[in-house]
Amino acid sequence: MLYILTTTGKCNLNCKYCGGSFPENLVPYRIKYNMDLLIGMINSDKNATVVYYGGEPLMNKKFIEEMNSKLNVKRIGIQTNATLVKNLDEKFWNPFNFALLSLDGDENITDKNRGNGVYKKVIESAMYLKNFNKELIARMAITKDSDIYRDVMHIINLNLFDKVHWQLDVIWDERWDVLKFAEENYLPGIEKLMDFFVNNARNGKIIKIVPFLGILSAYYFKKFDYYPCGAGKSSITINSDGRILACPIAVSEEWNVLGEIGKNYKLIGPPEDCLYCPYFGYCGGRCLFSYKERYWGQNGFKDVCYITKKTIDIVLSRSEELNDLINKKILNKNDLYYDPTEDSTEIIP
Ligand code: SF4
Ligand code: SF4
Repeated sequence: MLYILTTTGKCNLNCKYCGGSFPENLVPYRIKYNMDLLIGMINSDKNATVVYYGGEPLMNKKFIEEMNSKLNVKRIGIQTNATLVKNLDEKFWNPFNFALLSLDGDENITDKNRGNGVYKKVIESAMYLKNFNKELIARMAITKDSDIYRDVMHIINLNLFDKVHWQLDVIWDERWDVLKFAEENYLPGIEKLMDFFVNNARNGKIIKIVPFLGILSAYYFKKFDYYPCGAGKSSITINSDGRILACPIAVSEEWNVLGEIGKNYKLIGPPEDCLYCPYFGYCGGRCLFSYKERYWGQNGFKDVCYITKKTIDIVLSRSEELNDLINKKILNKNDLYYDPTEDSTEIIP
């Protein structure tokens, strides 16, 4: 199980697509439950991964330090805006295996979305964490101002990140013309990124572009039968008020509450509307939150499905070439295996 631990609802930034801190009554800024119950639950799970989440999780470093000193798990990570990382010394970072740092591309686009000076701080943080050999994942938000090829390649060319992942700024933000963006920039950019991926594969190198790895992993290993992030099945969030949630961001929605810490909790079933979609094995329903809330209505949901299907088509259209490389032993098929719940990623942008 992936345990996402919300350390606080407070954030020190106010990014465009997010809106900053959660309301304190929904996501308290301090932990309101008995931590021993949480430690007992996690340590009894032999397959546990823990990821700290917020708000900005580093705004409650005491909780993280105390948890890390008592946890006995296979993997510990954090999703951070990466602006406070350098305030904490190596001792703090020792227990961590990986960190997801928010970065949208170059300085221009990152600072436009996240605030002046943020890009430089994230790069400094990435260099700092690299000194301690932490696995780094760039976590991008793709908006109408993005250029998917330019921005992903910028991050790859930094040579600081082990993996790059992105999410489209859709459904949870105000409606914009994502189909136009998809036709003019996003889908052609995905094709160019896939060219780059395959060209590297010809030399036996896997570029760890998470959406591609996730789709290829479904193709080569096991198809998805649930939302890839696992929310409500193989991933649960412990909110700072002690509620157990399926998805960490749906903090006021009743359908998202699975139970509370110290008691039995329920799980969520698969997305019924998606079960007959021919892309379900590669998409898994994409995102529980979007599936349930549909802020952009049914048409908006369908627009995003269109982009998802095209993305899957582009990735799988190269499978014959990849099969050939595997048969020739230029590529090791096992290197294409990817489990998003090990990294707290989502696969389908
Ligand atoms: S493409 Fe749309 S309908 Fe198909 S599985 Fe994904 S979310 Fe469901
Ligand atoms: S993909 Fe959707 S359901 Fe899963 S964690 Fe992200 S927002 Fe929540």
